[in-house]
Amino acid sequence: MMRRTAFKILISKLQALRLLLLLLILPLNLPAPGLAVQNLSGERRAIAHDPNLQSFADALLPLFEKMPPVPVFVEDAPVVETGSSIERGVAFTECESSENPAIFVKKAFYEKANRKQLGNIIKHELTHAWLCRQNLMAGHDELFRRKFESVGGFGN
Ligand SMILES: [Zn+2]
Repeated sequence: MMRRTAFKILISKLQALRLLLLLLILPLNLPAPGLAVQNLSGERRAIAHDPNLQSFADALLPLFEKMPPVPVFVEDAPVVETGSSIERGVAFTECESSENPAIFVKKAFYEKANRKQLGNIIKHELTHAWLCRQNLMAGHDELFRRKFESVGGFGN
């Protein structure tokens, strides 16, 4: 599943700095280490950055021509029965601009997935991000499938 909703927060190469600034700006009563962001339609989202998940995703980058790291967030939102059979609404990649793809993994999935399942979904989302960076993001098309399979992705 892809979402292209425009968000106020754009993840960029200056992501670390921006997150730091965001933390400084956010009201202090937000539960740490979670972040709350609001998209343009006013929907509030609770996201958190998990260093372990980020490392897990970063370790897969050599499969993607060593593309720059893609920020990965855990989102506390309901898993929905939409999206591809592999994603099932458990994760998605935002491609607001080709420089700034960002991956969101639903907390409920992240907490119960084994490493194989997690690795597969991260490969899937990194494939979206890889295409996003090339301005080729177009869902689960032939280009997607070819790359996903070449990095050892399975299913769907
Ligand atoms: Zn997908």
